[in-house]
Amino acid sequence: MKEEGTYPKSSFIKLFDNKRTYFYEIIKEGTYPLTEQLHYTRNPKHPIPHNYVVKTQYGKAIYTVECSIEYVEKKPLYKICFGVNFSREVHSWETSTDAACKYYQEFNVMKEMEKNLNRYQSNKENKGKISGSLLFGLKLLSVERVRRTMSLDLKIRPFIDLGNSQKRRRILGLSQSILDIVERERDNTFHPDDQTANEEIWKGKILSEMQRLNISFQFWHEKNTNNLSYTSLMGPDKLKVLKEFDLFAVFQSITRAIQIRALWDQFNELYHLIQNKKTTGEFFRYKAKSWLDEFTAPSTGHPNRDNFVRGMYRIQDITLYIHVLCNHVAEFLEIHHKFGLAAFSCSPVEKKNHMQICLYFQNTLKDGGNRNSRKSAILEMLEHENRQLYFASNRVPNFFKKSKKYRLE
Ligand SMILES: [Zn+2]
Repeated sequence: MKEEGTYPKSSFIKLFDNKRTYFYEIIKEGTYPLTEQLHYTRNPKHPIPHNYVVKTQYGKAIYTVECSIEYVEKKPLYKICFGVNFSREVHSWETSTDAACKYYQEFNVMKEMEKNLNRYQSNKENKGKISGSLLFGLKLLSVERVRRTMSLDLKIRPFIDLGNSQKRRRILGLSQSILDIVERERDNTFHPDDQTANEEIWKGKILSEMQRLNISFQFWHEKNTNNLSYTSLMGPDKLKVLKEFDLFAVFQSITRAIQIRALWDQFNELYHLIQNKKTTGEFFRYKAKSWLDEFTAPSTGHPNRDNFVRGMYRIQDITLYIHVLCNHVAEFLEIHHKFGLAAFSCSPVEKKNHMQICLYFQNTLKDGGNRNSRKSAILEMLEHENRQLYFASNRVPNFFKKSKKYRLE
């Protein structure tokens, strides 16, 4: 049979040969289920779509039926609606032809009754039997083609071929959908210990534990923000928490409590090693390294199984102080053995940091400036410091005498 139409531009399709003509209007194109669930018509084989609705006119375009197919529990259900306003319905779980046969039976009964009312109307078109796949429009190749390419034709182009703004949009879209998934799955995936889940319970547990240790400690929200702040502990209190805080009273997960307790104990050991004059650089380096390994321990096991152990901290959580502790303190211990680290304080480092922040805002263009002479702010700061060092070591006067004015008479 021949197909005429411009599907998908127009939803009307004509299918005909020298004996028969069908007019179809595709109401809902439908989709093909996954390969393993997909059913086919017999002889010739056509895939059977899901969620498909078509209006079919046959028999010199005087009869119209609405056919639909829907997969229910992995089996296609064929439905034909007909009569005034498609108010009558037959359906079949077998084949489209079985549905078509049921339709014919009902239709003939209906016609028979009409014929009794009006004896003069003839009804010749009805003699030849039509196949279900014709009535359901399952032989329409143009629709089949569109359905098949639909899933592939989501305009997916390789990332590398995209323009910059499209790349940006693609990444943003992707990250948004990942974020949506994470938000949806949050409660299933993350342990209720997570702060997001029940902050209030956490706060209560921590406060009562602090009370037990006799340490004044408070939580509060900063004005107009959602940021949770808390008392910053000083030396002795911090040490007390490090040694005595009962993590098992705070964490629901015992594994987690054991993990963090071990991390804190190791840190406490480092603290004592630093003060001990007998500690060698080599030993400290080894101890600091194994503490860092514990600190950055990755997750192990499968997130949804019992064997899952959540990792500790991320690489990004390593602060500059941690870096110095693990990479440079051992060296300091070796060089300044006779003083011990207690002889040093961090305040010069903080002062230097403060000076450089001032320098950044007062003496640099903050990475901006004229396109041709643009310089990184760090470079500007280093050059500034270099000039200062030069002046200091070469006794360049850092002020000039006020200029004298001479008047010529
Ligand atoms: Zn370093």
